[in-house]
Amino acid sequence: MQPSAPETATKGTATGRHEVIVVGGGQAGLAIGYFLAQQGRDFKILEAEPEPAAAWRQRWDSLKLFTPVRHSSLPGFAFPGDPGSYPTRDHVVEYLTDYARHFDLPVELNSRVRSLRRTDGAYLIETDDRSYEADQVVVATGPFQVPFVPAIADQLAQGVVHLHSTSYRAPADIPQGRVLVVGGGNTGFQIAEELSASREVHLAIGSRQTPLPQRILGRDIFWYLDATGLIRKPRESRVGRRLEGRDTLIGSRPRKLRRRHGVALHPRAVGASGSTVTFDDGASVEFEAVIWATGFRPDHSWIDAEIFDDRGRVAHRRGVTAATGLYVLGLSWQHTRGSALIGWVGDDARYLAEHINAFQSHTSDAPAVPQPVA
Ligand SMILES: Cc1cc2nc3c(=O)[nH]c(=O)nc-3n(C[C@H](O)[C@H](O)[C@H](O)COP(=O)(O)OP(=O)(O)OC[C@H]3O[C@@H](n4cnc5c(N)ncnc54)[C@H](O)[C@@H]3O)c2cc1C
Repeated sequence: MQPSAPETATKGTATGRHEVIVVGGGQAGLAIGYFLAQQGRDFKILEAEPEPAAAWRQRWDSLKLFTPVRHSSLPGFAFPGDPGSYPTRDHVVEYLTDYARHFDLPVELNSRVRSLRRTDGAYLIETDDRSYEADQVVVATGPFQVPFVPAIADQLAQGVVHLHSTSYRAPADIPQGRVLVVGGGNTGFQIAEELSASREVHLAIGSRQTPLPQRILGRDIFWYLDATGLIRKPRESRVGRRLEGRDTLIGSRPRKLRRRHGVALHPRAVGASGSTVTFDDGASVEFEAVIWATGFRPDHSWIDAEIFDDRGRVAHRRGVTAATGLYVLGLSWQHTRGSALIGWVGDDARYLAEHINAFQSHTSDAPAVPQPVA
């Protein structure tokens, strides 16, 4: 990824006007960037962090994707490697970095957007030291934004090491002794399994997720989801409505974790005092360390636009909001189960790019000429 030289100007003065600004340079931001480049659009991708693939860098060292190489490509540039193998975290970081470089996407690193609002006839987008105007804006700041830690964490004694899963990298970071992982999703299961090789591990599962095997009859589960069309079923469809909200645990099972890896299972952690954590069934256990694999909360507080529902969530239809020219991309179930996955986010990006093109062609006298980028 090649960060352009920041344009200099005082805050509040737009340094440049672009047809489109994309906020967030993860896989969703890059995927829409690919289509915008194809259209020959004048655009920029503003990325908060100093390095590309920032969200993946914040995940643990041994992370392997649950989507195989075959289903881990963004549009126009195949993920390298054996299609049936599973990429590591570092492979994804390398792939996303190469992707931006390959298409020469205009990513500006160190550019956290602090505010977005409508001014006369344009959107004003402000970072700490720059501001831009744009006809259209795509918010691609991720399905997982602010790490969420339950309030009971405050009741743990100071001596108990406790951290959110985004701060966990490897077993060596965690003191020896009994450790509790809180959270029954893929992250909680994988971290519990990794730690169980070197210490006594307990896992608190607040709500059970539906376990799916990684492979069936020699084929990956995503092969079936793709071949049957399930991964692309719209959330409004009958199947989509049934699948949405039902989180899936891929390749792990509570029983396997207990029997094969000796992890003690508990229901939801409901209280803490000193080094003791209490569970929903009344049991209490003392721990040396706790890892909160308890997910994330969205943060769109920097957006000043009429796009939120009464629960504060972005209201949209396939990423198109009620504010003309303002879009979201990469949200979980934005349109389908695949919306927040690397291999399918391109579908939603293509759809939004068509909207952007139609809008821009409508407002400009000279529609953009599509240019080959591959
Ligand atoms: C542990 C874990 C494992 C996963 N495994 C898989 C898998 O195996 N296969 C798969 O397909 N998916 C997987 N996912 C889901 C998904 O692919 C990832 O979450 C992916 O990172 C989402 O990409 P994104 O571009 O939408 O968001 P992100 O990767 O979160 O990127 C958003 C970017 O926006 C930037 N940003 C945020 N706010 C601002 C701002 N105000 N201004 C500027 N920039 C900003 C961030 O720095 C970040 O770089 C996994 C997710 C997790 C958490």
